[in-house]
Amino acid sequence: MAKVRLERITRQFKEAVAIADITFEVPDGEFWVMVGPSGCGKSTILRTIAGLESATSGNLYIGDRLANQVPARQRDVAMVFQNYALYPHMSVAENLAFGLKMRKADSQTIQERVESVARSLDIAHLLDRKPKQLSGGQQQRVALGRAIARKPQVFLLDEPLSNLDAQLRDDTRAELKQLHQCLGITTIYVTHDQVEAMTLADQIVVLKQGRIQQIGAPQAIYARPTNRMVATFLGNPPMNILSATFEDGAFHLADQSFTCPSAITAHLPLSPGQSVELGIRPEHLQLVSASEDQDFNVEVSVVEPLGREILIRAVLPTQPTSSAAQAINLQVSPEIRVRPGDRLSLQIDFAQLFIFDPATGDRLY
Ligand code: ATP
Repeated sequence: MAKVRLERITRQFKEAVAIADITFEVPDGEFWVMVGPSGCGKSTILRTIAGLESATSGNLYIGDRLANQVPARQRDVAMVFQNYALYPHMSVAENLAFGLKMRKADSQTIQERVESVARSLDIAHLLDRKPKQLSGGQQQRVALGRAIARKPQVFLLDEPLSNLDAQLRDDTRAELKQLHQCLGITTIYVTHDQVEAMTLADQIVVLKQGRIQQIGAPQAIYARPTNRMVATFLGNPPMNILSATFEDGAFHLADQSFTCPSAITAHLPLSPGQSVELGIRPEHLQLVSASEDQDFNVEVSVVEPLGREILIRAVLPTQPTSSAAQAINLQVSPEIRVRPGDRLSLQIDFAQLFIFDPATGDRLY
């Protein structure tokens, strides 16, 4: 096992900068997840660590060794891709043994290792089959097994679950977590699935357009996102973002307003007429019966029962002359009866309110 350190890594292609000034260190044995929208540079970072891509500038350390010039096969890292890339003409056992054979391990070591990996991934009964005789989930386990078999110092996983159906994906995700707990191999995992990021990671690295937006433990990032992008990327349904103006101690949204608590204004000097974006997660909106000073009204558009709760998609009602209605999602308990067209009174949990700068997306509060 080894720590992995990226120091000011940049990768520039002719057309564009794929990743810029990336610095982080994954401590020995931890499980880190890189997330971000398509094209944000996740795979480029992983490929740079694997040695499949070389950085334009910056330093990469695997363990205490500067790895910039170390060829991919000498880095002692194993990478698993979303498309498995198994050798089609080899049996499962031969696929699992491949990396060990290349390293000239003796046949008894190979056999023991293949059997032990196959047992831990529950594929021991498939050892004689060829990849095309396996389901997608089984193929993915073999791909993981092939990587584990050679006991790499670092495990790199690029969207390894994305080809699996929903149920299998959930199961395999839990197995991966368990596997990491047993093996303790330093792991860097790429996904654009925020559930995978939240459930698997010791630390999440959020990326956008080749730059790090935030690094932190899943709950810490969820609770204290550094900007609007991070805030809306983690959480499903995502955080509501409402455009508002600050005036006379109150936030004005569409044709409604509510008093801004002094706890907020004490921390954040807002100037009269200042435009802001209010961020509020669906679970932090409360349905209230009577309309009070701190409430605002929404009109229900769609009701989606999800079993444990109901997801309500609503809009802030506006006058016909006003700009486009702002959408807002909330989650309520399944006993509550609501129908499209109903008007609801909502109260914000101000302790959970975020305020963003509309121009930069930075969190102001
Ligand atoms: P996805 O989630 O879609 O796989 P990603 O976050 O992994 O995306 P990368 O594949 O790392 O993103 O790509 C980052 C940026 O670098 C993109 O804008 C991509 O077009 C660009 N890029 C990647 N590889 C090359 C290449 N070989 N030549 C030119 N540009 C590239």
